[in-house]
Amino acid sequence: MDSSRYNVAVIGSGPGGFAAAVRAAQLGAKTVVIEKSFVGGTCLNCGCMPTKFLWQALKLKQKIQKSYEYGFNSKLDPVVFSDVINKRDKNISNIRKGMELILSSYSIDVVKGTASFKDKNMLSVSNEGRHLDILADKIIIASGTKPSSIRGFDFDGNKIISSTDALSLTKIPKTMLVVGGGAIGIEMATIFSGFGCSVTLAECEGQLLPNEDGEISEEIKKNLSRQGVEVLTSCVNSLNNADKYEKILIVTGRSPVNDFGIDKIGVKTTASKFVETNEFCQTNIENIYAVGDIAGKNLLAYTAQNEGCIAAENAVKGNSLKINNKVILQVVFSMPQSASVKVVDFSNYKNVSLGKFPFTASGRAFIEGERAGFVKCAVDKVTQKPLAFWLLGAHSDELINTASQILANSANHISRESFFHPSLSESLLNASEDALGKCTELPKRL
Ligand SMILES: Cc1cc2nc3c(=O)[nH]c(=O)nc-3n(C[C@H](O)[C@H](O)[C@H](O)COP(=O)(O)OP(=O)(O)OC[C@H]3O[C@@H](n4cnc5c(N)ncnc54)[C@H](O)[C@@H]3O)c2cc1C
Repeated sequence: MDSSRYNVAVIGSGPGGFAAAVRAAQLGAKTVVIEKSFVGGTCLNCGCMPTKFLWQALKLKQKIQKSYEYGFNSKLDPVVFSDVINKRDKNISNIRKGMELILSSYSIDVVKGTASFKDKNMLSVSNEGRHLDILADKIIIASGTKPSSIRGFDFDGNKIISSTDALSLTKIPKTMLVVGGGAIGIEMATIFSGFGCSVTLAECEGQLLPNEDGEISEEIKKNLSRQGVEVLTSCVNSLNNADKYEKILIVTGRSPVNDFGIDKIGVKTTASKFVETNEFCQTNIENIYAVGDIAGKNLLAYTAQNEGCIAAENAVKGNSLKINNKVILQVVFSMPQSASVKVVDFSNYKNVSLGKFPFTASGRAFIEGERAGFVKCAVDKVTQKPLAFWLLGAHSDELINTASQILANSANHISRESFFHPSLSESLLNASEDALGKCTELPKRL
């Protein structure tokens, strides 16, 4: 096989493309990844990871400010935001080096440049005037999404900014209007207000996170207000006051990156121009697969990674693995975090009982100094099987993975013997027992 001929070529090295390339190579395929920007995609470079670093920095700032609760007397010097950004970028760069090391450990070629289709097996890669043709038996598209603006308010990188622009700021603006009360909008409002910006968060629907449980959404709104964020819901005309703000951050949605000849070779797309795929992550062109954001099913990294692995297995071994999502997960890095997970057919269950366990009743939450929040659980009354969890509070982002395993794998009620004490995860068990009227850690119900 000559050097530019591969079994599998992957377009994009975000979570979807990275997982696909590594899995293909693990299965013995000669694999190449083509990346026009930085290895790691949106997730590592301008999405999940930089936001979580800033969230963590903010959390640490708050912990230092509350260190008197543990008998310390630590004082926090004024925060230099550019120093935080420098540390963040160093961390991101180290994670990226780790990813590059993994790719090279599997002898995966990484080609820098922009890929476009010449035909269904041939990609042309261009980089600063140089061109390379890559021939591949199978091609996996993992090109992701980009921020969408609002008509009449195009991003200018200065006043009207995207999430990517916001994450490039090295100085905290005095005022910011965040348009869009989804997960990204809430995270941005939390971070920027936490570092001293006066933030207004505007959502056109009646609640933040329009598809989330009403109580969780209301608590997030209250917490944001306590942190000094002005939250406007049912607000359709926030941009009428655009002049009032130093920055306007638009985070109302993302659109597919599909500008590299897929139409030319006949790859089918949806009405919103995401690539259409079947349960094998395969497009209508037999040798071409698509995964992650570009396939438009659920714009989250865990979905991208899962689809990447499925597509790679199918591309290398023939279609055998199907997408089989048992649960739907969501995490929002508000302060404190919130998270939810439910079985995919949750709305079909009619005989459901609800339980709730507040963190004020958790010994471990006391010790952690994290008493705000709760766990709610929906249980099937007949089988006693938990069907959904909603969490608000410290470590919800980690607890949700345990909750997810319970929903995906347990056939009936969860048992006490597998929960260590004292732990926050006991709250999952306690909420599910409360749904059945038998929680030993709560007062008798009146
Ligand atoms: C601010 C923010 C915070 C987020 N936080 C979270 C979070 O906490 N948890 C979570 O699960 N998700 C989060 N997400 C979403 C998550 O980042 C995406 O779902 C995930 O990155 C999608 O992975 P992907 O591999 O499909 O695409 P991407 O990560 O977007 O990667 C696509 C890659 O393809 C490359 N590419 C595109 N076209 C070409 C081409 N023609 N040639 C070569 N290369 C190309 C791009 O340069 C890019 O590197 C967040 C997103 C944002 C914006």
